[in-house]
Amino acid sequence: MSLQDRLNEVASASTAKKSKLCKVGLFFEPDSKLPKEDQDVLFAAIETPTGTPGRISTVGIVYALRTEGYEISNASMDRHRAKKCSCFLVTARKASK
Ligand SMILES: [Zn+2]
Repeated sequence: MSLQDRLNEVASASTAKKSKLCKVGLFFEPDSKLPKEDQDVLFAAIETPTGTPGRISTVGIVYALRTEGYEISNASMDRHRAKKCSCFLVTARKASK
């Protein structure tokens, strides 16, 4: 990774801190590193209600993201999925379904 890349990373990390979204919510921002089609897939996976056949576990989603190079913790994903993260404390967006 070049210095430029590192600096960009630091810059986006400090932007993220100002944001009211949690790390998972940031995947759905317009400037997300995650491509739009992957955002849709991730959103669907996260929002699948408990008990639905084929529902992917939180650990499974986090594993898939990490495998693709997106750093996220089980705890962050858990909080977001349970709608107990900063995304849902601030606004109800994407909370329906
Ligand atoms: Zn969140």
